[in-house]
Amino acid sequence: MFISGRILILGAHPDDAELGMGATISKLTREMLSCDDIRVLTFAWKSYTGESLIEPHKRAMKTLGIKNYEMLNFEPTMGFFNRQDILDILYKEHKNDYSTVFTHNSYTSNQDHQVIFEETRRAFRDTAILGYSCPSSDYGFSSTPSYIRVSKQDALRKIRAAKEYIIYKKKPYMLPEAIMGTLQANGLEIFGKGLAERFEPIRVII
Ligand SMILES: [Zn+2]
Repeated sequence: MFISGRILILGAHPDDAELGMGATISKLTREMLSCDDIRVLTFAWKSYTGESLIEPHKRAMKTLGIKNYEMLNFEPTMGFFNRQDILDILYKEHKNDYSTVFTHNSYTSNQDHQVIFEETRRAFRDTAILGYSCPSSDYGFSSTPSYIRVSKQDALRKIRAAKEYIIYKKKPYMLPEAIMGTLQANGLEIFGKGLAERFEPIRVII
């Protein structure tokens, strides 16, 4: 898959983009795009229990080579995100002429993720959209996923970014072996070897 132009990466919560596509972000910043062409936008800056995730997210973005990122102050309140405010923000982002938008996938069971997925689809009708996978909140996944091959270096950067979220260090999905195992399972599924991240093709424009 060839990705060019400006890229927008959306996440309801501060760790979503890192977990869903941290290795791909590493690959994009390392090999494919100028870091100025990638923007990460997160809608909440704190956890469900109220801890600030600003510093961990900052460090994770630095680890992955991202300079253009912003955290908004929506409450992570299980689906009570103000949808119109989110749509208005996404309409403003739409003016930046992105070639591809990465967002949550349609199979997610997390209500905040569902809101971001749906409003992304509404705002970016004319833009390619790929939905990243967060196995701990997905309820199944697309039967026809797309894959991005990543290197071991990208995988290790993803693990380092996840480790910045010290308050989540005991969460099973944050463990290095879980992250590496998921990348390996994706690699096996598509290439029979190696590492990959998988995406739901929500909008493909050729
Ligand atoms: Zn999330």
